[in-house]
Amino acid sequence: MGSEAPIQILLVSYPAQGHINPLLRLAKCLAAKGSSVIFITTEFAGKNMRTVNNITDKSTTSIGDGSLTFHFFDDGLPEDDPIRPSLSGYSEQLELVGRKFLSELIQNHAESNKPISCIINNPFLPWVCDVATEHDIPSALLWIQSAAVFVAYYNYFHKLVRFPTDSEPYIDVQLNSSFALKYNEIPDFLHPYSKYPFLATLILEQFKNLSKVFCVLVDTYEELEHDFIEYVSEKSILMRPIGPLFNNPKIKDASDIRGDFVKRDDCNIVEWLNTKPKGSVVYISFGTIVYLPQEQVDEIAYGLLDSRVSFLWVLKPPPKEVGRKPHVLPVGFLEETSGRGKVVKWGPQEEVLSNSSVGCFLTHCGWNSSMETLTLGVPVLTFPAWGDQVTNAKFLVDVFGVGSRLGYSQIEDKLVTRDEVKKCLLEAMAGEKAEEFKKNAIKWKKAAEVAVATGGSSDRNLDEFMEDIKKHGSV
Ligand code: UDP
Repeated sequence: MGSEAPIQILLVSYPAQGHINPLLRLAKCLAAKGSSVIFITTEFAGKNMRTVNNITDKSTTSIGDGSLTFHFFDDGLPEDDPIRPSLSGYSEQLELVGRKFLSELIQNHAESNKPISCIINNPFLPWVCDVATEHDIPSALLWIQSAAVFVAYYNYFHKLVRFPTDSEPYIDVQLNSSFALKYNEIPDFLHPYSKYPFLATLILEQFKNLSKVFCVLVDTYEELEHDFIEYVSEKSILMRPIGPLFNNPKIKDASDIRGDFVKRDDCNIVEWLNTKPKGSVVYISFGTIVYLPQEQVDEIAYGLLDSRVSFLWVLKPPPKEVGRKPHVLPVGFLEETSGRGKVVKWGPQEEVLSNSSVGCFLTHCGWNSSMETLTLGVPVLTFPAWGDQVTNAKFLVDVFGVGSRLGYSQIEDKLVTRDEVKKCLLEAMAGEKAEEFKKNAIKWKKAAEVAVATGGSSDRNLDEFMEDIKKHGSV
């Protein structure tokens, strides 16, 4: 490395687990490549992150040639304020305090001769690039869903293709791929029957502001989503695929810097997996937000009992703010499955999926989970709930060929019975189909490893992104 001062980059994250994980991974990659990175989110999230992980506010840790500092800001609400779980009210509050905080931070850095060279945010914070523009600082977006989903929102926003409407709710959507997406395969916040139209509005706000960012970074890789990345580039948007971020070899040494909100269960999960034969365990997790109806949990539990497969099931308690009852397992379930099954509140998902005993992932198909399973070579059973999860499920099954469908989205409101659960579990764990899924999963895993290795497509994209920032600074 030369003697030039490191570039200072601010990363601003919406305070949700699925937002923090990929942005923190990007933070570590940028630091490893020599930048001074400041990772910003709310104190409310920061408090959980500090309690569960080994991180501190405002102290700087060296990573590779650069460094990472956490900076948490007060969202201005009391601890148990009822606005926080409501996305619309909370987003307004966050913008109000976030704009002021960010402006002051930028100003302070400029005054202490450490000017900020670039600001990166993840979705739900469309105002961050306005603040960057006000201070004449280049900004970028880390899109935390797939490039295909980006293309769907882009087409919807610019009205480039027909989407389902109240009068035509069941039409297909033809994006730039050879196949159309059915009405129930598009990111379903864009469907007129969505229960969460506000989320579409919030995501589309980012598309309104897209001309203000000079680059869209995506946690995907060229080999996986080439056609969609190329399509976006043809629209004169600089899209750089830089994933899989979590598996970047340059941040292996910083794997203990994590942003988990929930403490892992202290029950030797990995040690337990190590006692199981190769490919014999199904891992089950619905991510951080999806909360299944109790009757669906019952059917999954009975499917597990009847199929007799080994399993690791993350059954997280509901967050206290939302006032839901914790799930209850059938009487005798834990005793009957003792030895072959484990139920935990939170686990080290990347380590679990890396463990050779895991043969299949029953997943809600959040994009982080989708990337993690694809690039660790683990086949799936898809069980999406909403938003991009339904599109990811379509791609995992029909495009990437790594699994089969099990569950339906919440809009469809269908219960998956214990017999369906049992049948799919047995098919996914052994036999011809299972072998085909595994073969494809291994192909994506190898391609991902090449993408993030030195000189691979994602690695080059990160280098070029850093070069772009430096060029902006020198004009
Ligand atoms: N995760 C984890 N332990 C668990 C369950 C989930 O570490 O027990 C992590 C998982 O690895 C992923 C994130 O939580 O990085 C969930 O993100 P995703 O986009 O899949 O779903 P979301 O929670 O945003 O719906």
